[in-house]
Amino acid sequence: MRRTWTTATVALSCAVLCIAYPQPFQQQQGQQHPFTPAHGHGHQVNHNEETVHTYARFDGEQVLRFDVSNIDQLKLLQATVEKENLDLWSNLRIGTVDLRLPAAKLSTPAIKAITSTIPSTIMIDDLQDLIPSQPPAFTRLQQQQQMNENWNFTDNSFWLQYHDFATLNNFTETMVQQYPDLVKRVSIGKTFEGREIFGMSIHGFKQKKDKKKKKKRKSRSWFFGNDEEDHEEVDYFDESFGGHNNDNDQEDIIDILGNNDDNDNESSTSVSEKNGDIVSSWWSWLFNTTPRRSIRKPSKPKKHPKAIVLHAAQHAREWIGPAVVSYIAKELILGYRKNKKITRLLDQFEFIVVPVLNADGYVYTWEHNRMWRKNRQPTSIPFCPGIDPNRNWGHMYGGDGSSSNPCNEGYHGPEAFAALESKMMADFILDRKNVVAYIDFHAYSQLWMSPYGGDCSQIPKDDEDLMEAGMGAAKALHNVHGKKFSVGSICNVIYQASGGSIDWTYAVGKVKYSYGVELRDTGRYGFMLPEAEILPSSEETMAGVMYLANFIRLREKQWGYFA
Ligand SMILES: [Zn+2]
Repeated sequence: MRRTWTTATVALSCAVLCIAYPQPFQQQQGQQHPFTPAHGHGHQVNHNEETVHTYARFDGEQVLRFDVSNIDQLKLLQATVEKENLDLWSNLRIGTVDLRLPAAKLSTPAIKAITSTIPSTIMIDDLQDLIPSQPPAFTRLQQQQQMNENWNFTDNSFWLQYHDFATLNNFTETMVQQYPDLVKRVSIGKTFEGREIFGMSIHGFKQKKDKKKKKKRKSRSWFFGNDEEDHEEVDYFDESFGGHNNDNDQEDIIDILGNNDDNDNESSTSVSEKNGDIVSSWWSWLFNTTPRRSIRKPSKPKKHPKAIVLHAAQHAREWIGPAVVSYIAKELILGYRKNKKITRLLDQFEFIVVPVLNADGYVYTWEHNRMWRKNRQPTSIPFCPGIDPNRNWGHMYGGDGSSSNPCNEGYHGPEAFAALESKMMADFILDRKNVVAYIDFHAYSQLWMSPYGGDCSQIPKDDEDLMEAGMGAAKALHNVHGKKFSVGSICNVIYQASGGSIDWTYAVGKVKYSYGVELRDTGRYGFMLPEAEILPSSEETMAGVMYLANFIRLREKQWGYFA
């Protein structure tokens, strides 16, 4: 897709604002007319001599890790973040809290007050070292123009790098076009800047004639390259759900680096070379079964299936999220009628995968500011745009863990559901009436969290099931590459965070299995997670999601999920 860039004009007013605000704001204000991909707004503007290549810089900015050991320290940190409009990289909690500090603020009294009171270490000494000087959207333009036409989604090459909004859209379109019986495009709505929030509905289809089906299957290029007939005979849904680790099926096991690394040692991120075996390997590790021969026929697709919603990028800079959920979509699609475990789940559930919820913010991170978090809606303060969508959902809205200050990264907006992205996703869930599981993917910290976050005095009535499923999912995830994910309610795992998605989806949307998942890492790179970690992160997360879906299938028999 051809894209051109508009000229950015530095407004005179910015000169004033740039003095008053730290580096990131300078960059944002300097781009009153952001260069924007033509596909985003349906217009194209030619290059001229003033084409802007600037990308927000973070020279000398540090990310400090505070070791918060008591509530007084936590309150001090929270108050400083609010007062100074600092950028929290991790959630506030008793424990480690990561905070980005602009160079100009490092020696101010407010910052010295927290660094002298709360023990801290430097996680990132100079953030600019991790951020390209050119916008990725610009520098990758030519490369992706060439590659978009040549992507082969049947292998994992697409998941060796991060992709911009347009490329993720192309991926979705390709899936819809190549597998029309299985994949439908869904639209959640349009953002403030006019972008469509797109997604995929993936659900099994009833085959017409078995004989034709079998011939057709052999010719389908998207099947994995290994022996299809062998897989046809495998009963993946043995009764040993959650059983012992006695799997002897070496064919189905990927080369899992079984270290128990929880320190983000890069040696744990090797990419599996066995594309075709990955799907089956999850199940081997998840269910610890020795596959046995079976004559069981595939299940019939449900006419009115229950839905599992997966989405990412409520927060724009958390790039690993869209990569992971698009991978899950691909594995589901390619695994259908190839892998019986996936086939059964897709025949019973509708998976709705939305790679990028905060489309405007995501595009902004590719073109202007890698550290952008919020959406791009205007606020009451012209030089502080953006509402935090995940502080704007309408249940337990506006409490601790969110901010009423538009310049704060956790700004909850003027009222609940003022953020279009939150409102449209909430409406989507209400309209569908069939959603039984919802996972909102974020980064980073490696957490698998359940409600509530907005009111820590409340416990969901389904807490036991939520915890059991979450613990199982985290264990399944851990089994793939050894990464540990902490499990618990938002209040227990982190700290109070009001207006979050899963409080609403659980309490109002009636989605029993509502989770917020913080993906890799634990802070070594934070939002700048290296691309080499995309694939292993995707593989392990797929295992967690599949565990959850199967847990629901087995636990919720009253919903009609019989094996
Ligand atoms: Zn987030």
